[in-house]
Amino acid sequence: MTSPLLVARTSVKKLRAPLSQPFRVASGQHDQLDNLLFVLHLKKGLKGCGEAAVATHITGETLVQTSKNLEHAGGWLKGRTIDDYPAISARLHDRFPHNKSAVAAVEMAVFDALTRHLNIPLWRLWSSKPKTLRADITVVIADLEETKEKTRAFYKKGFRAFKIKIGRDMDLDFKRVMAVNRLAPGSQMILDANQGYSARQTLQFLKDLQKAGLVPDLIEQPVPKADWEGLQKVTRETKVCVCADESASSLADALRIIKARAAGAINIKLMKTGIVHAVEISRLARAAGIKLMIGGMMESNLAMTASAHLAAGLGCFDFIDLDTPFFIKGEVGRNPYLSSNGTYDLSMVKAGIGIDL
Ligand SMILES: [Mg+2]
Repeated sequence: MTSPLLVARTSVKKLRAPLSQPFRVASGQHDQLDNLLFVLHLKKGLKGCGEAAVATHITGETLVQTSKNLEHAGGWLKGRTIDDYPAISARLHDRFPHNKSAVAAVEMAVFDALTRHLNIPLWRLWSSKPKTLRADITVVIADLEETKEKTRAFYKKGFRAFKIKIGRDMDLDFKRVMAVNRLAPGSQMILDANQGYSARQTLQFLKDLQKAGLVPDLIEQPVPKADWEGLQKVTRETKVCVCADESASSLADALRIIKARAAGAINIKLMKTGIVHAVEISRLARAAGIKLMIGGMMESNLAMTASAHLAAGLGCFDFIDLDTPFFIKGEVGRNPYLSSNGTYDLSMVKAGIGIDL
């Protein structure tokens, strides 16, 4: 008898959309959504969808290579069954050590198809009840006026957690952070320097903020990812929780950070680790008392909602950074589980990730 979980064929397509504004961070910017969609068709007619978000200015991955790797993975999966997903994951990590967005796309499609087959929502793999998530909103790098204007608009929409991108200009960053804090009273304040500062600059910046009466809830990736000493120094010398993002680009990186307690929090992104390793990192970090953020690259509803399933199912994430649908034209309106103030409620998902593209 043929297994219903046998892969019949796969396809790779471009996933493109315009943004409502450039998504500008210290290390570069996205002007449009330019990703890849990986679809896996099972013999019995079910399918699963995965997304590879290629952020060349952050990871060095390219669309051309990722597309080739997805084609290759599809060829390998054809004629195999997807129930042994840990083995599939291990094979993908082995084969594509420098293309984790390809690993993420294939794993996402496998988990989507598997949970559609089981007729359960993806979050149900980890919990009997999904946690409702409240996402932050990103204030991208901009001048002071634009920063104020965006903050007012986001606060009015109901956002109460603000992630302010900094790391290019300390004086302007200071003015912008203070302005957001003033215009969004009572909100969670997260700063993300995307590797833009040195350890010394970061500590000075935090001191200046404190003098002005502001202690942020989190500072993310203050120093370059290879500056291990710097990351540890900032973590040691400030009371503000330091979150590793670019420095935690793989399971091995995360392990090193957990062992050395080099950061107080880790930003988990499917595009850095895939799903299987993301679950592993979250368990190890929690056991060590390290906080967790769930984040993403520039991703459509598909990958963002897959990440929301993971966070809603595992229930152990302190910071929810799944806001890129708000920067893609029309995207939020097409997601029945995401409301305009950033709340993800996945209790109505019938099976799989629940997003049809
Ligand atoms: Mg970050």
